[in-house]
Amino acid sequence: MAETVKSFVLQTLSSPHVDWLNFRFDNTLVYPSGYRNDVARAFESERIRITINYADVSHDPPAGAPGAAYAMDTARGQTHYLFFPPALAHRCGRDLCINVLTSFEEANLRRTIIHECTHALQDYQRVRLTPQTAEASAYLAGAITGRRWGDHHIVANERAGAHAYAFSLADRLLQQGLPHRPWAIPAEDIAWLKAHVLVGRLERYVFNGI
Ligand SMILES: [Zn+2]
Repeated sequence: MAETVKSFVLQTLSSPHVDWLNFRFDNTLVYPSGYRNDVARAFESERIRITINYADVSHDPPAGAPGAAYAMDTARGQTHYLFFPPALAHRCGRDLCINVLTSFEEANLRRTIIHECTHALQDYQRVRLTPQTAEASAYLAGAITGRRWGDHHIVANERAGAHAYAFSLADRLLQQGLPHRPWAIPAEDIAWLKAHVLVGRLERYVFNGI
C-alpha cells in the first residue's frame, strides 16, 4: 500500500537522522526536538497542512514547476500550508500518497522536507530573521539530512553555489560526530552561505507563529 505524504513527512521528522540537526546559525537555533516535537505536532494537529495546490501558498502563479514551499507569512492560528511537489505525489482516496521513488529521489525529498520544516521551526520560534539567515540555515539543515539519508554525491567545487557549499559544510560537520550540544558554525561559512542562497520576497519572511 502506498504511504501517505503526511506519514512520510512525520517519519522524516522523527527519524534518528534528526539528531544531527543541532546548530546555532546567527540568531536561529536548529535542534532535534524542534522537528520531532514542535513541528511534528503542528502536522499532527493540522495546524500545518500538506497541499499540492500551489495557490494555497502563493498568490503569484508559479514560474515553471514549483519546488516545495512553506507559507511563513500566514497569521498565527490559521492553517499553514506546506506545498508538496505534485510530481512526487498522487491522490489515494481522501489522502495524498507518495509516488514510488528511487533512493536518490528519496534522499532529495527528505532534504527538501527538512528545508521547509526548518522554516516551520523558525516560525514556531517566532524570531526575526533576515531572508538570508532563514534560507542559509535551511539549506544547511537540508544538506545534513540529504547526507544522512544516503545522498553521497561528491562536491567537486564547494564554491559552485549555495547547495554545493551547504553539502560541503555538512560533510565537515558530520565528520565531527554526533553533536551533543549545538554546533557553532564558523562565521566565514555563515557569511558565504548567506551571500549565495536564493531568497524569496522579503515580505514572506514573517515568522509570527504557527
Ligand atoms: Zn527556503
